[in-house]
This record gives sequence, C-alpha cells and structure tokens, in this order.
Amino acid sequence: MKNVKIYNVKGMHCASCASIIERTVKKIDGVEDISVNPGTENAKISFDTTKTSPESFNKKLEPLGYSLMLPPTAHDMGMSENEHAAHLGLTQTKKEKLAELASMKHKVISAIPLAIISLFVMGWDILAQFSIVPGMSLLWEEFFHHLLPLLATYMLFVVGKPYLLGLYRFVRYGKANMDTLIGLGTSVAYIYSFIVGAFEETLLKNIPNVSMTYFDVTIIVITFITLGKYLETRSKLKTGDAIEKLLNLQAKTALVVRDGTEVELPIDQVVHGDLIVVKPAGKIPVDGIVTRGNSYVDESMITGEPMPVSKKVGDGVVAGTINTTGSFTFTATKIGAETMLASIIKMVEEAQSSKAPIQALADKISSVFVPVVLGIAILSFGAWLILGAQALGFSQAFSYGLLSFVGVLVIACPCALGLATPTAIIVGVGKGAREGILVKDAAALEKLHNVDVVVVDKTGTITRGKPEIVSIKTLSGTEDENISILAALEKASEHPIAHAIISYTDEKKLKLAQVEQFKAIKGKGVQGYVGGVEYFAGNTKLIQNLQLSFDTTSIEAETLEGKTPVILATKEKVLAIVMVADAIKPEAIEAVKNLHKLGIKIVMLTGDNKNTATYIAKQVGIDEVVAEVMPEDKLNTIKELQSNGKVVAMAGDGVNDAPALAQADIGIAMATGTDVAIESAGITLLHGDISKLVKAVRLSKLTMRGIKQNLFFAFIYNIIGIPLAAGLFFPFFGWLLNPAFAGLAMAMSSVSVVGNSLRLKSKNI
Ligand code: ADP
Ligand code: MG
Repeated sequence: MKNVKIYNVKGMHCASCASIIERTVKKIDGVEDISVNPGTENAKISFDTTKTSPESFNKKLEPLGYSLMLPPTAHDMGMSENEHAAHLGLTQTKKEKLAELASMKHKVISAIPLAIISLFVMGWDILAQFSIVPGMSLLWEEFFHHLLPLLATYMLFVVGKPYLLGLYRFVRYGKANMDTLIGLGTSVAYIYSFIVGAFEETLLKNIPNVSMTYFDVTIIVITFITLGKYLETRSKLKTGDAIEKLLNLQAKTALVVRDGTEVELPIDQVVHGDLIVVKPAGKIPVDGIVTRGNSYVDESMITGEPMPVSKKVGDGVVAGTINTTGSFTFTATKIGAETMLASIIKMVEEAQSSKAPIQALADKISSVFVPVVLGIAILSFGAWLILGAQALGFSQAFSYGLLSFVGVLVIACPCALGLATPTAIIVGVGKGAREGILVKDAAALEKLHNVDVVVVDKTGTITRGKPEIVSIKTLSGTEDENISILAALEKASEHPIAHAIISYTDEKKLKLAQVEQFKAIKGKGVQGYVGGVEYFAGNTKLIQNLQLSFDTTSIEAETLEGKTPVILATKEKVLAIVMVADAIKPEAIEAVKNLHKLGIKIVMLTGDNKNTATYIAKQVGIDEVVAEVMPEDKLNTIKELQSNGKVVAMAGDGVNDAPALAQADIGIAMATGTDVAIESAGITLLHGDISKLVKAVRLSKLTMRGIKQNLFFAFIYNIIGIPLAAGLFFPFFGWLLNPAFAGLAMAMSSVSVVGNSLRLKSKNI
C-alpha cells in the first residue's frame, strides 16, 4: 500500500545532509519518492508499506548520523485517536529542540573566552610584526605556547565533536557533509600544529621558519561556526512559530452539557453531538452549529478578518475562535483532527515543508558542493606546494598552502545556501496563515509572484453571492402560485439564485409543493415535476431551447442594470419572469484597483447573462468579461489565456470550478463556510474575501524577494571567499584569507540568511 508520511529528522545540519538522506533512502526498495527540507528538518517520504518501513529507513540512516523521529502511535501512548490528534506530537520535538539549543548555548559560552584569548594572541602577533606594539615577552610567549594547544584540544574534542564525527563518517562511509569540511579543516590545522610544536627543534634544524602553529585557527573557527549554528538554530525556531501560535488557539477544556448539567471536560472527551456551552469571552473548543442563543464571535485568528461575526441559531462556529459578549450553546459536529483549526495546522505544516521550485537550483548546487570544494582545497594546497615553493621556499609555501586548504574548506560550506529558500517559505506560509491565506504548497506561493491575469468568478467573488428578488412579473396564473412552484424547484438546487427564491418564500411564509424528478440543467437552470406538471426555471437560453416565445426586450433592459432573469415556464408557455440582483461587494472595487496597481489584469468569468455581467464588471472596473460560459468552458478560457503566454491565477468557489482551478497556474479557492480541504486549489482564502487575493499576491512577491536576497547572501560569501581563501589574489596583492575570518564569514552567511527571512515577518502586506 502506498503511504506518504512526513518525519522530523534528527542530526541534520545543512543542505548537503538533505541530499545525502534523499539519496540514501531513495535507494531502499519500496521507496517511491523522498524530499527533505533543510529548513523544517522534515522528510516527506512516499513508500510502499508492504515492502519497507520507517524502521528500515533508520537502519540505513543511523550509521550516517541521522535518524527519522518516528512518532509514537496513539496506541504506544495509550491514547485514543482523538487525544492523539489533539496532542499532535509537536510540543515534544519543540521541547527537544529547546534542549538542543540549551546545550549549544553552553558550548558557545565555554568557547567564547578561549576564542578571545586566541584572538588576543593572534592580534598581538600581527601588531608586533608591524612594530605597533612591542613583541611579547619571552615568558608570556612560553605561557601561550603551552596554553593554546590545551585550549585547542578542548575545542576540537569537546566543542567540535560533531565536526570530528562528520570527518569520521567521511572516512568510514565516504559521505561528506558540511561537518566533514569543518572537521577536516580544523583537525588538519590541529595535527599540523601539534607536529610542529612537538618536533620544533628537529624541524628547525632542517627547515627554517616552521615555528608557526595554527592552534588559534582551530579554536576560532570552531567557535565561530558553533556560534553561527547556535544563532541559526535559535532563529529557525522562531521562523516556525506560526504553527505554535495556531496550536495555542486550541482550547484545553470545553463546557459540555451532560445529563442536564454543565461540566468542564478536557477537550479530548468531547464527542460528536455533544451540546457545548460558550460563555462571554469563552473560546470555542470544537467545530459545530449554534442551537441556542446568539452572539458575535471574533474569528480574526482563523480568517484574519478583524470584525466579529454574528452567530445565530443554525450558524457554524469554528474551534479556536473567541466569543465576544453574548452566550450560546452549540452542537459539536467536528472534533479532534477533523476541526478546521486542525486542518489548517496540517496544511500549514505540509506547505512549510514543501519545496518551492526555485529551491531545485540550490539543492543541485549543494549536492555537488562538498566534493567540489574538497577538490578545490586539495588543488590549492598542491598549487601552493608547486608554484608557491618556487617563489617563497618550501616551508613558507607549505604554511600558506595549509592555510589555504583549511580556509577553503571552512568558507565554502553550503549551509546558508540550503537555508535560503526554506526559511523564507516557512515565514511566508506562516504569515499567510495568520492573514487567512492558506498556502497548500510552496510552488503556488512562488508562481503567484509573477501572475499576469487573475480570473475571477462573478457570484460570491465580485458580488455577495446572496442575490435577492427585485421584481416579479406574472404572465399566467397568480404570483403566489408561480412563486411556490418556482421555490419548490429551487429548493433542490445549490445555486445562489435558488437561495434568493427560498428566502423570499420563507419570508412570505408560502407553502411549498413537492418536486419530483428534479434535474439541474448545467449553466441554464433547473427542471422538475410539481403536481404532475413539468416545469422549467432558468435563464433565457433555457426558454429559447424550449422554443417558447416571450418578450425579451423588457428583460434585456433590466439585465443592462445588472439584474439576472429567472424565467418559470411549462413546456407550453412562460408563467412568470422573476428578476434577481446580487449586490456588489464594496471591497471588490478596492481590490480590483489594487490588483491593477500590481500590474495584473482581471477577467471575470460567469455563466450569467452577458448584459448583467458587463454591467457589474463596469461598476467594479474589471478589464474583461467572459459571460454565458458553460462550466466546462471555464477551463478552456483559462487554457486560452495560458496559450498567450500568460501566468493565470483563477479564483473561484472551489466546488464547481475545480477543473478550472486545477488548470490555472495558481488555483485560488475562496472558502465559504468551514470547508478548507479544497484539493484542487494551491491557495485558499478564508471567508472568500477578494481583498485577500491582493494580500496573497503581495505575500508571494515579498517571499520571493526574500528568497532572492537570501540566495545572494548565501552565494556572495562563497564567490568572494573561495578564491580569496585559495590564495588566488596572493601573487598580485598579497591577500590571503585567514581561516579564522573564513569561519566568521561562514557563520555570518547563515545568520544573515535566517535573519533576513525573519525580517519578512514584520513586513506589512
Ligand atoms: P455562475 O455560477 O457563474 O452563475 P452557472 O453555470 O452556475 O454559472 O449558472 C449559469 C446561469 O444559469 C446562471 O447565471 C443562471 O442564469 C442559470 N441558473 C443556474 N442555476 C440556476 C437555478 N437553480 N435557478 C435559476 N437559474 C439558474
Ligand atoms: Mg457558479
């Protein structure tokens, strides 16, 4: 059986780790696909459960220093499925991450004074060379001469243990990651210095000038790298806090009516159909339908909508939202993992660990980076020995060559490169979630930034989607008779027009007849039998198909004012013409203006009458109207726009627009009600607000800009650093990057990438 699972991975340090894990697991029989995200440290694996298991992945990964965190199942934890869903397992890994952070902090604190001492000695030496300060007295020199090897030993074997393990894995399994580079660089400096220090006297006799040792390099590089990693880990925890904030929205208890009395129960004991009491300022614990009382509920935490929403009997309420001053009772319909909040959390989690297409480049580079860098390091060492020795003499060239070797290894780490895209995506997706913009995968967020055309649905997107009857013209029979027949037909329909008719008859308390053999006629209307007579109701096209003659001029005139006709007829004659009108959403006008400012063209797509649609489009400022389209033609309209080379986003209600949403480069579902599991859309806007569409485009642009800046930061250090460290500029300018500074630059690049991603959080969209 095919299974797709996301696991948290322990032991990941960088992008090259991701590609090592991907390659190792992909080789296992039964694994179809794996994608590892270095930002979230998650691995998404699809595999055949009959052929392999997560345990066998770990068998292969553990020798390499990685392991998948296999979540304890509900059974393991002695919990019900509901309890387990509420638990979600997230708090646990967070706790572990904090523990890891604390131990890194201890290491950093112990390393910094040692680095300061080394920097002091190093700085004094340099200044003394230029006679800015007097040379160190012999006694001090002796003291440091013995102190530095001790400090370096502690640094390499205690603080630098992860890097030594990386080196060990390279030797043992031939797999190199960034720890390997650091481990190799620092231990080469250490061993060289150790040999020089131990055999100084013998060496001095044969080779002049060998007394230079590089213990300080080992100390300073390890300190900077560890400090950089500590800062990076700390910031990475912050980039992902959107999920944590969502988790915190979940109420811990619920006030449930059991045996006629209100009892406060832990959330996981709530079952379907429970009556739940919500007091003023109380949190709504699960999803449900109001059965008594009324109030306003603050849903801003879910939809990003600041205005509290009115809730009466029959309205839906959503877990995680907060009641204002009223009080009400509701029936629980969705609990545990079924709630909207739980599905939002799941969606955000998955989106944050999905890969944006732009990351493919970074992945490709970092997977070949380590071997290439090793090659460059060895080459530059060789060049120093061969070319440098002729100019400078062997011992000098050997020292410089060694510095180059270590410097290249240290500066070239692809760490920042691996973080550039995922950290920005994590922040972007999280930020969206708080604004009611749910991103299903990172690719949708990436594509949205260069969208050319937005195609929108009329009903519900531009108009309120709640049309009302504005006039009724009776041609045969009485008005009440006709209206009750019409309502009987419409009662079975899902179309917004149907609601207009039903709410009218509800208000007038008209009795409805029974409908038999009801059928919806796609794009045109409905038909069915009432009292044994066959009736039709719908637009002019439907009536024309019946070949009935009727006065179209008065209908025409009204459609030019944005009204939609609903014509009731039998096979023989037209009985009544009902005009309905749907008010334009005030925010739609503003949103269209803002989309224009972003250089985006707006096309309105509707099955409604051409005149009606054109009138509404003009009111709102929409560029182009495609009216009277059948549902299956919506897809073709999108295809046509795409064939002109346009990047097309389609915003629709997600139910009957599914094929068009899937065809568009970016499908944007306008969620109405509580259904967020909209499969065919890449992005879902909660509460169907079109002004959020503008925000979504801005969010995408912001995120992409962040990613591009990050990639720049990641590359610039390497592009400048590698030739500098290799000594390419030495023959011309005498420049050679000290490995200690390479360590600093390396740490800086990761920190600036993560810092830049975090900066996106505070930007307004
Ligand atoms: P849209 O969602 O853009 O209105 P549809 O294909 O759902 O597109 O409907 C096209 C047209 O068919 C509507 O504008 C309306 O005139 C007519 N129609 C569809 N369903 C009904 C209905 N239940 N009652 C009356 N007219 C309907
Ligand atoms: Mg529709």
